[in-house]
Amino acid sequence: MIHEIYPKKYDPTYINRKAGDDDHLLCYEKDGILIKYENDSYSLPKCRDYQEICDAEYEDIKNSAYYLFEISGEYYYVIDLPEWLKENIPYYRKTEDIVDKAGKAWFFLRIHSFRELDPVVMVFAGATGYHLRNWKNVSKYCGCCGSNTKPSTKERAFVCTNCGHEIYPQISPAVIVAITNGDSILLVRNLRRPKNVRLELVSGYVEIGESFEHAVHREVLEEVGLRVKNVRMYKDQPWGISGAHMIGFVAEVDGDDTIVRQEDEISEAKWYKREEVPEYRNRLSVGSEMILRFKEGKL
Ligand SMILES: [Zn+2]
Repeated sequence: MIHEIYPKKYDPTYINRKAGDDDHLLCYEKDGILIKYENDSYSLPKCRDYQEICDAEYEDIKNSAYYLFEISGEYYYVIDLPEWLKENIPYYRKTEDIVDKAGKAWFFLRIHSFRELDPVVMVFAGATGYHLRNWKNVSKYCGCCGSNTKPSTKERAFVCTNCGHEIYPQISPAVIVAITNGDSILLVRNLRRPKNVRLELVSGYVEIGESFEHAVHREVLEEVGLRVKNVRMYKDQPWGISGAHMIGFVAEVDGDDTIVRQEDEISEAKWYKREEVPEYRNRLSVGSEMILRFKEGKL
C-alpha cells in the first residue's frame, strides 16, 4: 500500500525548520505535481534543483518553503512558484503524453498519473504533500472572521491574525468493505469514477457521529441493499490524493444475498467467484489488496 515504505520511515512531527539546499521542495499546480525528469527517471525536485529554473527568485522561493514532513532523514517542504514561472512549465495528464524527453525536463504531471510511477516512497511523499498543500490552500483565510491567517511557528496549523482561530489539517475517514458470500466477493462499478470501468469494493465516507462499523452497515445497505455480519477490520491506509483515510473491513453477507443497487451511485454490482476476480495491478490501496487476497484464497 501507498504508506508501506519500509525500510524508509515517515515522520510527520512538525518542526520549525528552514529549507536547505538538499531538502525536497514539492510544488503543485491545480491537480499536477512538479516533476524533474533526467536520465530516464522521474524525481521530486530538491531545493538546489530550482536554481535551474528560478534564477533571481531562488532565495525567495527557498525562504517561503513550508515544512511538511521527514522520511528517513530527508526533509520535505511545499512551495508555490510565481505565476510567470508556472506558465512556462508544461502540464501532462499522462506519462505517455510527455514530449521532449531528451536530457532534462521539468513538468507538472497529473497526480492520478503520478501515482503509477516508482518508487512507492516517491508516490507516498507526493500524495501526502498534495493533501497538505490542498489544506494549506484553503486555510489562507479564517473561516470565523474572514481575516488573513499565518502559519503557526509551534505546530502544523494556520492561525487567524485577527481572532486567533486555529486551522488544523483535515482528514476525511472512509470505510471500504470486502463483502463475502462463501466463495464469492461483491464487486461494484462506481458512477463517480472516471470512465466507470474499474471494479471495486463498496466504500463511503464516515458521517459525523457514527463509528466506523456503523458506517460499514449503513454504506453497504445504501449502496447494494445488503445486511452484513462478522464485520472485522482489515487494515487502514492514507489516501492524500482525495484527502481521505481508508479503513478496510471484511464482512459476510447476512441472510438474503439479493443485490439492490443505489442507481445514482452504482452502475453495476455483482458477486464474483474467486477465479472470476480480475487481476489488479494497483499496489497502493487497501481495497485492491483485499480483492487480491480474496482471489488468492487468503481473505
Ligand atoms: Zn478569525
